[in-house]
Amino acid sequence: MPSKKERLAELNERMLKCSLCVLRGTCRQVVPGEGNAEAEVMFIGEGPGQREDELGRPFVGAAGKFLDELLETIKLEREDVYIANIVKCRPPNNRDPLPEEAEACWPWLEKQIETINPKLIVALGRHSMERFLPNQKISKIHGKAMRRNIPGLGMRVFYALYHPAAALYNGSMREVLIQDFKKIPKVLEAVKNSESEIENEIAPVDNNEDKENKQETLF
Ligand code: URA
Repeated sequence: MPSKKERLAELNERMLKCSLCVLRGTCRQVVPGEGNAEAEVMFIGEGPGQREDELGRPFVGAAGKFLDELLETIKLEREDVYIANIVKCRPPNNRDPLPEEAEACWPWLEKQIETINPKLIVALGRHSMERFLPNQKISKIHGKAMRRNIPGLGMRVFYALYHPAAALYNGSMREVLIQDFKKIPKVLEAVKNSESEIENEIAPVDNNEDKENKQETLF
């Protein structure tokens, strides 16, 4: 059985050849994601910006620098976590990814999550949050861990945060993001400690709308 690292490397190879949506026609290169294949925490942003498009790596521009600083506050480095995006190709002029682009790119992200199998998924920003926790408001659920059954991925714990780029030049949002970020180790510990309990609560993945949409705040 190939290791997680090997499986991710093989997945990245396939991602680099992707042309499932129009974004590949305008971006410079695919930005698959990077980090520790064994990460317990996975950060998911929106999509590559200019710098990411140039370097082929996620979160390496101004928002990325801020993310590095935030990681430092909880004594983590990029090498400890995994960082990816909803869409792997830069939308032109940094526009928001279109729903059909996010949809086309979903199988890649789904495979990344399935392979890494993180204990906690941190959604960076509204667009990332919407993918996992639809019909929520980031202003309401930021800094709260929520459990949700994602068809194909099973029960997962999500923690939505303001996007570092949005918070970068907004004093109050920045402070909220810093405080929410500091709670990540505690959230992770709580997820790990109640793991058996959480597993007991796993609803079977089926097509029952009610179950699929079931989400609850953990703390
Ligand atoms: N913003 C994102 O959402 N992702 C990146 O990779 C960089 C900036």
